[in-house]
Amino acid sequence: MTVTKIQIVRWLEASAQVMAANQAHLTQLDSEIGDADHGINMNRGFGSVLNQLPALTDKDIGTIMKQTGMALISSVGGASGPLYGTFFMRMGAVVDAKEELSSQDLHDMFQSGTAGIVQRGRARIGDKTMVDAWNPAVEALKRAIDDGQDTTSALRLAVAAAQKGMQDTIPLQAKKGRASYLGARSIGHQDPGATSSYLLLKALLDTVEQG
Ligand code: ADP
Ligand code: MG
Repeated sequence: MTVTKIQIVRWLEASAQVMAANQAHLTQLDSEIGDADHGINMNRGFGSVLNQLPALTDKDIGTIMKQTGMALISSVGGASGPLYGTFFMRMGAVVDAKEELSSQDLHDMFQSGTAGIVQRGRARIGDKTMVDAWNPAVEALKRAIDDGQDTTSALRLAVAAAQKGMQDTIPLQAKKGRASYLGARSIGHQDPGATSSYLLLKALLDTVEQG
């Protein structure tokens, strides 16, 4: 089974809805270890993505992803704008000109997007950032593909891995971003960016499960 371009467009629409619905939650998490704007940033960013989608539906998936990245960079201040922007632009480069995505394409796309976040933000695994959600998700996708799982099952495993990665940020001390200024006081709080990352991947699974 493949993920079609229409499903990618629906995923981005769903992401905008999810970020709007979770704005208060993400901002609450960011108020604990940051500056209380992550929900506002994500809602504004995906609002901008949503606005430009109607003009993009006749474009290929690569173009849609790249334009999504550009919209995020230009509408979101703060660390997460350039990081998520890079994430989507890198993903777009991997799936350039494609009209549908195989499980392998999904893996390659998320792997490259995650590498872009790491290259830009220099976070390592365990630094209490969005990388702690994306990295295990990409690894789970790879394992699922190697095991011969279908796309939906592979995505389900990836979402479970991202959720665990998100929850596992709670006991970590932040080493990157604003939360790192708190030192040991960042321990005991879930990372906002890992949470929005999980929400994004979950929105893709929900979209794919709807057929
Ligand atoms: P800001 O920190 O500028 O207010 P946001 O609140 O929108 O930006 O985003 C904060 C999130 O960004 C953090 O929870 C973390 O997941 C992510 N983040 C911050 N710095 C980095 C980095 N260097 N690498 C990866 N992710 C990072
Ligand atoms: Mg913030």
